[in-house]
Amino acid sequence: MVCIICRKSKNDMSDEHVIPDSMKGFYHIYSVCKGCNSLLGDRVDSPLINHKLTELYRFSHEVAGKSGRIPNPFSGIFFQEGNQDTKFRVDVDDKNELRVKSLPTVNIKKNGDEIESIEVSLGSDDEHKIDGILEKLAKRHGLPANSIIAGDKKSVLSTEGVKGQWKIDTLKFKIGLLKIAYEFAVDTIDGYFDDSDAIDISTILKTANYKRAEEYVKVGNGLQPEVFEPYENYLDLSSEKHYLILSPSQFGLICLVKLHDLFAVGVVLSSRNYLDNFSTIVGINDINKRTFNKMTLEEVVKQCHGPEYTRFGYHFDTEYEAYLAQQEINSPSFKYEGTEQAEIPLFDESGQKYPLLLHELLPSLKSEVKYDGDWVIQQYYFTDTPKYHVKSVSTGNLYRVIAFEISSERIKKI
Ligand SMILES: [Zn+2]
Repeated sequence: MVCIICRKSKNDMSDEHVIPDSMKGFYHIYSVCKGCNSLLGDRVDSPLINHKLTELYRFSHEVAGKSGRIPNPFSGIFFQEGNQDTKFRVDVDDKNELRVKSLPTVNIKKNGDEIESIEVSLGSDDEHKIDGILEKLAKRHGLPANSIIAGDKKSVLSTEGVKGQWKIDTLKFKIGLLKIAYEFAVDTIDGYFDDSDAIDISTILKTANYKRAEEYVKVGNGLQPEVFEPYENYLDLSSEKHYLILSPSQFGLICLVKLHDLFAVGVVLSSRNYLDNFSTIVGINDINKRTFNKMTLEEVVKQCHGPEYTRFGYHFDTEYEAYLAQQEINSPSFKYEGTEQAEIPLFDESGQKYPLLLHELLPSLKSEVKYDGDWVIQQYYFTDTPKYHVKSVSTGNLYRVIAFEISSERIKKI
């Protein structure tokens, strides 16, 4: 089998998480060799997983990494405002709560080569460590252990006003998003693997070329949920889900990646489109249900809508004709030939049946979509020539139709 990253024929295929495991991804593919899988983990997934924002996210959602530990986004050294001498560390305790701890500070006063005094400051939590620290200091400075007399051991430090700085990576994490988009497209669209852009992307991933990843991950800066706005009527963008969407665009084939409320970006995968609007493909990773499902946008829309209601628009030449027809059409027992699924035969004015049933004719008719609140109304317009009629089941009367309407209410998002 050919590995989709190194593009070589390999026997050792692996279980590759398209969305990293530690971000609660449940989309698996088996077309990446073991070597490439571990390389991707180290150099491609890791800037995404270890991004400061991901750490914050995993911290707030308590998602443990492979080691079983929840990352500490506050790791690093902090200073207290107005007190640059004391360093602080922010720890995550067993209950996943943050604790600010002061780091020991040591002040050595010298007179020439001679040590006059050693001052050690510790937070009250670490008070018990002072003897050990003093012992080490004595050793390091060649002093006999008994020459140090511990004075006031305790120095209580306030942990208020502790400040630090974070470095936020704005480049490297994008390669992790490029990998997700590329693997989703290769796994989903026939023929994409051989696209010249796909070949280039696999090289970027294989060599972990962070700079060049930006050439493809270029719609939005990576943190803009706006790129998902066109889908907000159908996708529940505030739910605990990751969304992947493959669709045509003005740039060519694009993959929108939204990792819960963390990253949202558009990846341009090819100058070719491969798909039309109807075949846009949506991948939904449900964090709570631990599932990943792929469906077409058409299926998404269907799932979000309630039952369909249909009706014809009739045309009558005279008011009298309309009056007579309405007696029959408006009666609850009125039925025209055909089935509920728009498999309805149509007739010309002499009663001759047309070869196409209604649902076969609809795609060729002029149509428009109207929105009214949560209702979506699709209207189709019949031509004047030829004229179309439906036939009453009970009387055999022909009634001329000029429009057909399918409406349904949007009742949920997925
Ligand atoms: Zn490989």
